[in-house]
Amino acid sequence: TRILLTGGSGFIAAHVLGLLLKQGYSVVTTVRNQKKADQIKSVFSKYGKDQLDFTIVEDIAQPDAFKNAVISTPPFEAVIHTASPFQFNVTDIQKDLLDPAIIGTTNMLKAIKDGAPTVKRVVITSSFAAIYDPSKGDRPGYTYSEIDFNPMTLEDALSHPANGYTGSKAFAEKAAWDFVEKEKPNFSLSIICPTLVFGPIIPALHLLSSLNTSNQLIYGITAGAAKTRIPDMGGHCWVDVRDVAYAHVQAMSLPTAANKRFFTTANEQYNNKTVVEIIRKNFPEYKDVLPGGEVEGGRFPVGGTFGTNNERSKEVLGVEYHGLEKTVVDTVNSFSAVSQK
Ligand code: NDP
Repeated sequence: TRILLTGGSGFIAAHVLGLLLKQGYSVVTTVRNQKKADQIKSVFSKYGKDQLDFTIVEDIAQPDAFKNAVISTPPFEAVIHTASPFQFNVTDIQKDLLDPAIIGTTNMLKAIKDGAPTVKRVVITSSFAAIYDPSKGDRPGYTYSEIDFNPMTLEDALSHPANGYTGSKAFAEKAAWDFVEKEKPNFSLSIICPTLVFGPIIPALHLLSSLNTSNQLIYGITAGAAKTRIPDMGGHCWVDVRDVAYAHVQAMSLPTAANKRFFTTANEQYNNKTVVEIIRKNFPEYKDVLPGGEVEGGRFPVGGTFGTNNERSKEVLGVEYHGLEKTVVDTVNSFSAVSQK
């Protein structure tokens, strides 16, 4: 079975790719340039061209970006669309965040409908950002699940890069559901909504200098960022990248996942104080950069926070979530592996 995966060099996508290859799928992944294709090839060098191949798509927001990428021999049976900007360091929210997310998604769906009628399932990486209502803050007593949809407006999204990212995910997911309803394509949709994703990076692919946004939180602690005060966090839900990858592959192959969104989040919440203590316990070599036990900050808000319900992802997709300690340890070990290169 041949699969198209977009953005294969990304943090989440690289884990999706690894799992697809391990399960015997034949994968073509889009990357922005040949250098990224070569790096991916070096990580997965045991797979031949018939199992792992590449198409260059420099910018998913360009018209017809995926027109050629969706054509393949043998033809694709499923598409997993993960490519989308996740960064806050942008100058133009519309151009740098909203357009690639929204236009990138509709470009992809249109290209499949027009050029790849054999595709039966499209899985899109959305986000908790498309579930959560930022205007409600910590919202103690409330439990988020797949029935919630971020009601943000375009004006809210354009007000600040963090809102721009949140809006980009909500609007892109909405555009995908609207496309399917209006265009009635041959394929069904499955949407994965992860919370903050932690987990091991892949040394030959990911650099500490351009680390994906979510892992920067853990990396920052190992680089001394919490030494004098442990940062408080706005959200406390997280998920392991390997569980997110598994959810994508399950959503791609299970008939029961058709036309559903899945909230993928770990069973337990995290705060930065707990992350510091896990690193202290497992990595004595970081002793000098960690805050002392008396340093303030990084705990849960006094009034509590919202809860999360991941039951559907467990029941339908069979995800068994990692616990925080294992994920933090594996993540920090992967940073050490990169810095020793
Ligand atoms: P990465 O930054 O590692 O991956 C993003 C991928 O998208 C990269 O391959 C990047 O390519 C590609 N990309 C971004 N903009 C464009 C563009 N204009 N044209 C072509 N490719 C583009 O982040 P993650 O792996 O964390 O994110 C993957 C997906 O998961 C995103 O959709 C993100 O919104 C979503 N997500 C992530 C969460 C997290 O905590 N990490 C939480 C919830 C959802 P390149 O690197 O070459 O620029």
